[in-house]
Amino acid sequence: MAITAREIIERMRDKLGSEQIGVGRIDKITAGSMDTEVRGIASVIMVTLDAAKRAIDKGLNMVITHESTYFSHQDNTAQFQNDATYKFKRDFFEKNNMIVLHLHDALHIGSPDGILKGLIKEMGWENNLNPQGRNAFTFPSIPLAEFVQNMAKKLDIRTMRIEGDPKMPVSHIVTSLGNAGSDACARAIARDDVDVFIIGETDEWETAGYVLDVIKAGKKKAIIYMGHMESEQMGMKFLAAQMKEYIKEVPVEYVTLPELFWRTKNPVWEFKKLS
Ligand SMILES: [Zn+2]
Repeated sequence: MAITAREIIERMRDKLGSEQIGVGRIDKITAGSMDTEVRGIASVIMVTLDAAKRAIDKGLNMVITHESTYFSHQDNTAQFQNDATYKFKRDFFEKNNMIVLHLHDALHIGSPDGILKGLIKEMGWENNLNPQGRNAFTFPSIPLAEFVQNMAKKLDIRTMRIEGDPKMPVSHIVTSLGNAGSDACARAIARDDVDVFIIGETDEWETAGYVLDVIKAGKKKAIIYMGHMESEQMGMKFLAAQMKEYIKEVPVEYVTLPELFWRTKNPVWEFKKLS
């Protein structure tokens, strides 16, 4: 059954509680138009060319992306007008009659927000979430190394980075997925009720140094850098599952973005060729 992007977006506005979807400063359409006929929907953390190719190979011509299409949070393309990669990407969307919706702000409404809900579901942390604490969790005491290894296994992440004693017992955790500013990181790490702070990424030269000094000055603390995409990706899997409930006309699928980085011990490159 035919459905336009406009109809899909109207339903999303209703379900996600944001009138800005499709017309916002950030939550806007970055390729195609509202009138595009949608054959299928892909939910991805970031619409890289690779993700766009994965989507179109599955017959999904509408992509909902949490991060930007054109290399800046606002999708400001001014600096890329003569950039060969920008043009290639723009042409790729056009050639394949694709529509791309940047869906950022609407997924960060509430606490826990739609992105964190995805991580909670994937990790099975529903009963660990503190009822009153925003983004705070309590676990039965477990060594840090074991806690992180469990995360890496469940989420299939090879490049998480950690500061802190691997043997340190972990119980009280606070999360801030995606990017967290170094001032917010310092405030969270300093809290008496926080052992471990989990983030996507931050200003390494500021936060990593602060955490080392906190530990050296006598506190038992740790920080887990999951990687920006890796920390938020499950939110888009969660979104796809939700959308299946109210979009029945076309398939809705979560499309994974392969992990961006590799380790020297395990050199791998899973990104797809376009031709
Ligand atoms: Zn986000």
